[in-house]
Amino acid sequence: MTTSSRRDGFTTRQVHGSLAAQSARSRTTPIYLTAGFPFDGFDDAAAHFGQGDGFGYTRVGNPTIDVVERRIALLEGGAQALLVASGQAAVTVALLGLVASGDHIVTSTHIYEGTRGLFLDNFARLGIEVDFVDDIDDPAAWEALIRPTTRALFAESLANARNDLLDVRAIADIGDAHGIPLVVDNTLATPYLLRPIEHGAAVVVHSASKFLSGQGSVLGGVIVDDGRFDAVAAGAKYPHLVEPTRTGGASVFERHGGLARIAHLRETVAPRLGPTPSPLNAFLIGQGLETLSLRVREQSRNAALVAAWLGARPEVATVDYVGLPSHPHHRHVERYLPDGAGSVFTFTLRGGTDEARRFIEAVEVFTHMTHVGDVRSLVLHPATTSHVQRTPEERVAHGVQDGTLRLSIGIEDAADLIADLDRALAASHPVVVPGAGQTVLA
Ligand SMILES: *Cc1c(COP(=O)(O)O)cnc(C)c1O
Repeated sequence: MTTSSRRDGFTTRQVHGSLAAQSARSRTTPIYLTAGFPFDGFDDAAAHFGQGDGFGYTRVGNPTIDVVERRIALLEGGAQALLVASGQAAVTVALLGLVASGDHIVTSTHIYEGTRGLFLDNFARLGIEVDFVDDIDDPAAWEALIRPTTRALFAESLANARNDLLDVRAIADIGDAHGIPLVVDNTLATPYLLRPIEHGAAVVVHSASKFLSGQGSVLGGVIVDDGRFDAVAAGAKYPHLVEPTRTGGASVFERHGGLARIAHLRETVAPRLGPTPSPLNAFLIGQGLETLSLRVREQSRNAALVAAWLGARPEVATVDYVGLPSHPHHRHVERYLPDGAGSVFTFTLRGGTDEARRFIEAVEVFTHMTHVGDVRSLVLHPATTSHVQRTPEERVAHGVQDGTLRLSIGIEDAADLIADLDRALAASHPVVVPGAGQTVLA
């Protein structure tokens, strides 16, 4: 027996035994839970490293992840998508593909607190400057902040806590006039309700941990690009996309044309920074996508009922839901959210922290947690949690008062949700018992 034919050692059998699975077709996307993929031959390995053909290593590409990326790109009306490990990773990777040290971003101030922290703590240390627009509905306010070094405009299509709704077209047009892409965090709207690329945005990002997966079981993030990078209009601002590579090879634009932005993220930003999603998580996000419209339609319908009901309650001072005619951005709803105004919004109790505490302690159907977009209804007290880092003045400016509660409405029966809120409102507001001269909790 030659030594080369030996493969019966215990440890060898442990890792090589019975590997050759019969090929079969799976109705669902198979979960390729593997670090890498054997090459079919010497030349295949070279072609993978040379031209990016096929799959080699999961940080660079994986068939399960690939299917989910293609599905999300289709839903958003984009050209290509890149799945990453979390929403924060999506924002970070998307923007680091556009900005370098010394560059500048103009952003809405009504953004996720984690993204705000990324700008103020992390990007600041990289020498990336950020200016914040407060009245995002005033295009002139955006334009006034653009500098020669501005490389991205950033906003959320539908924001927490005031439920600001972005006039995507107006801000995208300003970006186009300056050769700067508008990057939209579309997490709360979802592509079922709003597709920013159809309204002129260049790049869309999501926390797939929210509505896209919908079950609250995994984290994920995605970047979708419109595939319309214009080297003539914008090449001078993004030299890393149009100049030869470090080793003198053809530029990203020469190799990928209008897809240069996302190709650069896929080749150079995401695999180097490394926020690779697990193929198992990608699979679960893919499962969630298949029911996105059904869930979001039901959640928006429930949210509209709950918001209207809360608005009529004496214990409630304000309801910040863009679907209500009283919201300052309601006039944009017909254009941007014709199929529903979403299901994450805040309302403010007439009382303060004590009332909010009693409210949260009384809910039974709503779950008290920091998450949104779940099939289950959720409630959070932003002033003492998500927005605790802000000064009280900043909180008020962002729609977060001591009595403000954030709701994420799920798919439960609306009557059960309203009964739960009714019980919680009764528990939260002291009533005067006639004749007793003292306040008790109703
Ligand atoms: C949750 C969220 C993020 C961050 O996403 P993770 O998946 O938690 O990293 C970013 N933007 C918005 C609007 C979010 O709601």
